[in-house]
Amino acid sequence: MSTTVDRSAAQSTLNVWQMAQRQLDNIAQIIGLDASIHQYLREPKRILTVSVPVRMDSGEHRVFEGYRVQHNMSRGPGKGGIRYHPDVTLDEVKALAMWMSWKCALVNIPFGGAKGGVICDPKSMSLQELENLTRRFTSEISIVIGPEKDIPAPDVYTTPQIMAWIMDTFSMQHGYSIPGVVTGKPIAVGGSLGRDKATARGCLYVVDEAMKELGLAPGARVAIQGFGNAGLHAAELFAETGYKIVAVSDSRGGVANTNGLDVRKLVAWKGEQGTVVGFGGGEKISNKDVLEYECEVLVPAALEKVITQENAPRIKAKIVAEAANGPTLPEADDILHDRNIMVLPDILANAGGVTVSYFEWVQNLQELFWEEQAVNERLRRIMERSFRDTLDHARRLKVNMRRGAYAVAVGRVAQATQLRGVYP
Ligand code: NAD
Repeated sequence: MSTTVDRSAAQSTLNVWQMAQRQLDNIAQIIGLDASIHQYLREPKRILTVSVPVRMDSGEHRVFEGYRVQHNMSRGPGKGGIRYHPDVTLDEVKALAMWMSWKCALVNIPFGGAKGGVICDPKSMSLQELENLTRRFTSEISIVIGPEKDIPAPDVYTTPQIMAWIMDTFSMQHGYSIPGVVTGKPIAVGGSLGRDKATARGCLYVVDEAMKELGLAPGARVAIQGFGNAGLHAAELFAETGYKIVAVSDSRGGVANTNGLDVRKLVAWKGEQGTVVGFGGGEKISNKDVLEYECEVLVPAALEKVITQENAPRIKAKIVAEAANGPTLPEADDILHDRNIMVLPDILANAGGVTVSYFEWVQNLQELFWEEQAVNERLRRIMERSFRDTLDHARRLKVNMRRGAYAVAVGRVAQATQLRGVYP
C-alpha cells in the first residue's frame, strides 16, 4: 500500500464497515483500550449468510441473499433491525451490528449488537412476495435468533407487518406463540405502545437537551432528510413540540418552506402520493439541498454517508441529530466539530427505537403491558441520562460528542467482555 496517499482522499473511499472499525480504533486510543479486547471487538462474533428462495407471483422462483450478523453479546442477547434494500452488503450489515453493540451499551440496556439484511427491492415486490421472502428468511436465520439469543426489529423498508410475519413463522416452528423473538410488532400481536414513534421521540428528547445546553431559543428551525419511520415521526413530534419544520425529503426529492411546512398536510400528502415531492405548501428542493438548508437542527433520517467533507463546510445547522445510522463520514465529523456544530451521534440520537424495543421485549416476557405514558416517560429518563453521560465524557476527554458516546459505550462493552473472559 502506498504511504503517500492523501489521507482525506483515502478516508472518503472507506466503506461503511471500515468507517465503523476506524471509529472503534480511534476511541480505543483515546480511552487506552486493552489491545486484546480491542482486537476482539473489531470483528463480529458470528456471521450467517443465507440463500432465500422465494416463489414470486409469476410462479418462478428467485433466490435472494440475506445476512444476520451478531457483533458482540457480552451484555445480553443480540439486538438489531433487519433491512430490505437493493444496496445491502455484508459489510454494511457488519457495521450496523457493531453500532448496535455500542448503542445498546450507551443507553445501558442488557443487549448486545446484531443486524440483518436482505438484498432485495421491496418497492418492486408484491405483499405476497414480501411475505414469502420474510417467512423463508426467518426460517433460515431461526438457528441464531430467539428471545434469549438475538431479537430482530424493523429497519429500512421493513415494517410492523413484516415483524408480525417473523413472529408467526418462528412461533409456528416452535408450536406456540413467541412474541419476544422480534420487536416493532403491531400492537395486536404483542407490540408496545409508543414503539412506532420511539426513534423519533428519543431523537426529540436529546435535541431538547442539546438546545438547552447550547442556549438556543425555542421554536428552532428543523430540516429532515428521509421521511419514513424515523423522519416522518420526527417531523410530527418536533412540530407538535413547537419546532418549525422548514425542509424535508425522501428518496424522490424534497420540499422546503422558510416559514415552516404544514406537517399534518404534508404527512397526508405523503400518505396519498407515496412521496413528499409535489406538496403544494413549499418549494421543490433536492435531497442534497435539504442537508444545507438554513436551520438550527438538521436531522439526517435516511441512509449512510450523506454528510461528507464536501458538504460539511456548508451545513448551517447548530445541531446535527443523526436519526439515521452512519450518516456522517469521519472527516466530515471533524469539520463539523471545528465549526462548533454539535453532532448528536447515531448511537445516541436514534437509540429511542432500541430502547422501546427493549421495553417491548420486557413486556412480552412479563406478559404485562404498559401504558404509553409510562413508555414515553421511561424513554425520556434514559435518553436524558445518556445525553448527560455522553456530554460528561466528551468534556472530560476533550473530544466531540461522538467520541464521548463511544467512550461510554465501548467502555461498557469492553468491561463486560473482560469480566466474562474467554471461554476456552
Ligand atoms: P424507512 O424505510 O421507514 O424510511 C426510509 C426513508 O429514507 C424513506 O422516506 C425513503 O424515501 C428515504 N430514502 C431512501 N433512500 C434515500 C435517499 N437516497 N435519499 C434520501 N432519502 C432516502 O426507514 P427508517 O426506519 O425510517 O430508517 C431510516 C434510518 O433510521 C436508517 O438509517 C435506519 O437505520 C435508522 N434507524 C431507524 C430506526 C427505526 O426504529 N425505524 C431505529 C434506529 C435507526
